[in-house]
Amino acid sequence: MDELIASHEATIRLGSFLGVFALMALLEILAPRRTPTQPRANRWLSNIGLVVLNTSLLRVIFPVAAVGVAEYAQLSQWGLFNQVEAHPGVALVVSVIVLDMAIYLQHVMFHAVPLLWRLHRVHHADLDFDVTTGARFHPVEILLSMLIKFAVIVLLGPPLAAVVVFEVLLNAMAMFNHSNVRLPLALDGILRRAIVTPDMHRVHHSHLADETNSNFGFNLSVWDRLFGTYLAQPVAGHTGMVIGIDTFRDPAHCVKLSGILLMPFTGKVTDYAINRRWNTRDEN
Ligand SMILES: [Zn+2]
Ligand SMILES: [Zn+2]
Repeated sequence: MDELIASHEATIRLGSFLGVFALMALLEILAPRRTPTQPRANRWLSNIGLVVLNTSLLRVIFPVAAVGVAEYAQLSQWGLFNQVEAHPGVALVVSVIVLDMAIYLQHVMFHAVPLLWRLHRVHHADLDFDVTTGARFHPVEILLSMLIKFAVIVLLGPPLAAVVVFEVLLNAMAMFNHSNVRLPLALDGILRRAIVTPDMHRVHHSHLADETNSNFGFNLSVWDRLFGTYLAQPVAGHTGMVIGIDTFRDPAHCVKLSGILLMPFTGKVTDYAINRRWNTRDEN
């Protein structure tokens, strides 16, 4: 099973990415939630350009990827599930849940620490919110996330299948919960008891600091409820809310790929980092 998954990993990932992307893009046309504020072509060119850049960088810098680290941990008998005998199904489910909690905590950390927020601002500075926003991350954030994931895998010793299932799920869910799709409110209410819906995650992309510092989850909605960061709806409503960051509104920074890549190195850290949110002092 593990060998089969490891040898077909690339095909599984690419197939699910293209399938979910096409489905969400189609639903965004059929049932949009908001009217875009920017021409779609410009944003998509940059956001998809980032995906291509990040995927290539990961392949070059970490040729073994997360599943390779899980394989190495297995051979070396590192991590919980390589030390403790557990039913394969239990190990798989628990591993996926633990990886999801780790990614939630990592996301909170990227908001709280000013230096990390500089990187994560790239995700939040998108002026609209759609399926491509889900993959819009600065390459350095992508590399750091991968290192954190490696560390969690070494400690957890998950089955290889759990790593592939988690990565495919995370990818698919990120495209789903960033999509500009209008789900029936009743369906949204039922779904968000278990998973993060587009309306739930859109709150996180508000320009208001207290809304941005809410709803950090990517897959399961339980982490925000459990850790106290859940916020049901944006104060201005989903069609009235402003998406993005107040200090980055110029498309030259937020839409152009060169501006996006340079964003961590420009401007002050304001608003969202933990010790800057209520700062009324003059910093000069
Ligand atoms: Zn965030
Ligand atoms: Zn997001």
